[in-house]
Amino acid sequence: MSELRRIGVIGAGQMGRGIAHVCALAGLDVTITDSNAEALAQAKGVIEASLSRQVVRGRIHEDDKAAALARIDPAADLAALRDCDMAIEAATEKEEVKREIYGRLVPLLKPEALIATNTSSISITRLAAATDRPGKFIGMHFMNPVPVMTLVELIRGIATDEATFAATRDLALKLGKTPVAAEDFPAFIVNRILLPMINEAVYTLYEGVGTVEAIDTAMKLGANHPMGPLELADFIGLDTCLSVMQVLYEGLADSKYRPCPLLVKYVEAGWLGRKAERGFYDYHGDRPVPTR
Ligand code: NAD
Repeated sequence: MSELRRIGVIGAGQMGRGIAHVCALAGLDVTITDSNAEALAQAKGVIEASLSRQVVRGRIHEDDKAAALARIDPAADLAALRDCDMAIEAATEKEEVKREIYGRLVPLLKPEALIATNTSSISITRLAAATDRPGKFIGMHFMNPVPVMTLVELIRGIATDEATFAATRDLALKLGKTPVAAEDFPAFIVNRILLPMINEAVYTLYEGVGTVEAIDTAMKLGANHPMGPLELADFIGLDTCLSVMQVLYEGLADSKYRPCPLLVKYVEAGWLGRKAERGFYDYHGDRPVPTR
């Protein structure tokens, strides 16, 4: 399979922007799209700010930043992805959203184009079956924030062919990431372990075992975690955390994965974490203030 040079990114949220950032920095041409005009309009500015932070830290040069930005093309119409070698879907973690996107995407793509999904938890085999090319479909699960975290989980669906896996592994390496293969079980490796811990932290709060601050401090100082679990939940997005727990609960049919009612309540309130400026902490002021 020839090298992947043109990448289409679907979803200009925190992950899609990060994926566009690292692809452009690695010299690939990137088209990024989003159904939300505001998210799309802001994408390049947010990526520029993130590249600027890398310049300030001495990780990249000003010239690299300018060249990367010039390679990113925001487009409102999905049809702009027609020339890409791989489409990386990083839209909202809802199966019906992803299926609807694939339905519109596949008639536009080149027949040889690959499709990767950045889903945190949904079955790759099931998503692949919603496309016309299950052999060319793969899970490429980046970690947040994409420019900083070096792991990428690669997940084969039952039909994913070896050439697709090899091309995706090569792409991950080109992006400076370390690929790890995971089997297609709910939430793969990292989230299978991480999200039940976060959910348990929310139960600990729900049951009054500790306050937000006590729980986060306890895990930072007691388990040597760089971030507390509730701080981390806000960072990931509480809607994403809830979706992953629901997929684990339903996919593994084990009550130990039941989402904490308090997590459901925060999502119902629209308190989705950092991206909504409120979750287990309120981010409107100079420093985060616990909301419980
Ligand atoms: P986000 O809410 O920040 O962004 C999702 C974007 O998708 C939004 O801008 C939304 O407008 C867009 N979108 C929704 N429907 C669309 C459509 N039909 N067409 C085009 N765009 C559409 O979410 P995120 O955190 O960036 O997560 C995106 C994906 O990445 C999810 O599958 C999630 O599970 C996965 N992921 C998230 C994390 C994390 O820590 N947040 C980590 C790894 C993987």
